[in-house]
Amino acid sequence: MKAAVIDAPGKLAVRDVPSPVPAPGEVIVSLALGGLCGTDLHIFAGELNYGYPIIAGHEVVGTIAEIGEGVFDLDVGMRVAFDPNIACGSCHYCQKMRFNHCLHWEGIGVTRDGGFAERVAVPASVIYPIGNMPFDQAVFIEPLSCVVYGLQRATPSLGDKVLILGAGPIGLLLMQSVRRAGAASVVITDVQRDRLDLASRLGAEAAMQAGDGQRDALFDLAPYGYDMVIDATGAPAVAASAFDYVTRGGKVLLFGVCPEDATIPFSPFKIYRHDISVYGSFALNKSFGPAIELLKSGAVQVGDLISHRFSLDRFPAALELALSRSEPTMKILIEP
Ligand SMILES: [Zn+2]
Ligand SMILES: [Zn+2]
Repeated sequence: MKAAVIDAPGKLAVRDVPSPVPAPGEVIVSLALGGLCGTDLHIFAGELNYGYPIIAGHEVVGTIAEIGEGVFDLDVGMRVAFDPNIACGSCHYCQKMRFNHCLHWEGIGVTRDGGFAERVAVPASVIYPIGNMPFDQAVFIEPLSCVVYGLQRATPSLGDKVLILGAGPIGLLLMQSVRRAGAASVVITDVQRDRLDLASRLGAEAAMQAGDGQRDALFDLAPYGYDMVIDATGAPAVAASAFDYVTRGGKVLLFGVCPEDATIPFSPFKIYRHDISVYGSFALNKSFGPAIELLKSGAVQVGDLISHRFSLDRFPAALELALSRSEPTMKILIEP
């Protein structure tokens, strides 16, 4: 079968590899659509290294092509998504239901071969049938599950004024979800103008150009600050600014992935004096169900979040675009 193989950091080739065979308890999913994500770029760059060669791709939907021994309730031809996180179920963290911190965690497309290939092997335990949901929509289940988990952690309250820093695909999923979770209004910032227009169309109270003048404009809209501030950029300086905008008694959710060695200054006195809560949120934790329902019901709209589509053959061009940002991008999708 054809696959986009990362042979070593910085070294990628689309080539023929042996087709996966389902182990007991596994199914083979044939690719319909895969979303390119920051994690894939980190694997390509060697910043997330679980060994090479590796086929990336964890935001993947498709059709079941083959069923292994001991698989129940799934059939060939079923349209499915899969949770790329495979937890052991028995370690210290799994027993506390913190499956995303499993000590023996495996990630499809991270520690084992993923979906930027014609076929991928997936344990039946992480398969989610999607019925007749369009693949264009279903391909957002995985990133939306991460958003759901982040909001399950930070628990917005009814009537909150929310500020989201970053209006990329994740920022816009966060924005729509937090409104459903009770936010009265969401203000969002980004450097990319087209993203702000889209944010306004999708329900932002205000969509603001990030940069000089942002601070005054943000405080004009919320003189006492924001009940919840979410960083969706992963840029350390932007994440640090979340602490400036949060109101007394408010919450900061650090959602964007900052570089592992980055540090930011913050005032422990202010966190104490202002009753600030700070949340982290890693990947997802069995939150596919709510994400599927949010998409199915139309509560979260994703049609306009797709900016580019590349065939698997042209995977290198997709990666190049994501890395260079030579033109404005939102979600980049890979199709067979
Ligand atoms: Zn991802
Ligand atoms: Zn475990």
